[in-house]
Amino acid sequence: MIIQNEAMVTEAVRTGMAATPNQRLRDVMDALVRHLHAFVREARPTEEEWDKGLAFVTGLGQMTNDRHNETILAADILGLSTLVGMQNNPSWGGETEAALLGPFWRMNSPKLALGVSIAREGTPGVPLHVSGQVTCEGEPIADAVVDIWQADPRGMYDNQIEDLRGMNLRGQFRTDADGRYYFRSVRPAGYPVPMHGPSGELLRAQGRSPFRPAHIHFMISKPGFKTLVTQVFVDDTRHLESDVTFSVTPRLIGLLKEHHTTEGAPEGFTTPWCSLAYDLSIARGESRLPTPPIS
Ligand code: FE
Repeated sequence: MIIQNEAMVTEAVRTGMAATPNQRLRDVMDALVRHLHAFVREARPTEEEWDKGLAFVTGLGQMTNDRHNETILAADILGLSTLVGMQNNPSWGGETEAALLGPFWRMNSPKLALGVSIAREGTPGVPLHVSGQVTCEGEPIADAVVDIWQADPRGMYDNQIEDLRGMNLRGQFRTDADGRYYFRSVRPAGYPVPMHGPSGELLRAQGRSPFRPAHIHFMISKPGFKTLVTQVFVDDTRHLESDVTFSVTPRLIGLLKEHHTTEGAPEGFTTPWCSLAYDLSIARGESRLPTPPIS
């Protein structure tokens, strides 16, 4: 098609893509082009602004390596990860809501027995006991894998700490015959998302808080059930109302209790210690592990 005027460009591109054999690809790209062109018509970027926008996208790839995924971070701070997650994980049947995977999940974390600590010897922090039950339609789900990862009391994940070898504050448990899981850890802290790349530059330019409220990541999986990727937020934390990734829903806020006596404490815990009880409800469906965002 010979382009006679600005208005023709969108139709020309759509026509050019119309013969895409894969119908889903054709539909998705058609919607993308229509919305991108509408965006350009509304925002009317100058050439300098356009260069800056392209540099932002280029930077996402350039900043991504085996320890950091800037592309996921950008999707997170723009609310896209949350939106896609909510669309694909409706909780109509009372299922626990999904929350984004984030950039810090690692495959093959240690397989641990119930009750064991995910914090390596010497990890500082207030002792925490986490427990709950995994159910589907009210029935306990035995032998489900409960994959846990969290930040330390400084708000750092193991793969952000240059001199730390191996894994810390992550592990996989299997629910018992009653669908129960329990493990030990240390109280997590909230943290700012990494600010050294284009996402951080954007947050600074927007005057936004880079913080996430303290949380523990959960991934529940078992063949025959839809894999649930979610996060449980500690209810007394700061930043619940202003999560930079827009992940907090009322139901994902867990009640973290502080204890000042050793009554009911797991063996070896000293005061103060904390406990968090959180039940998770999963749906029947296809079990699928996500692609690890980093190595
Ligand atoms: Fe996190």
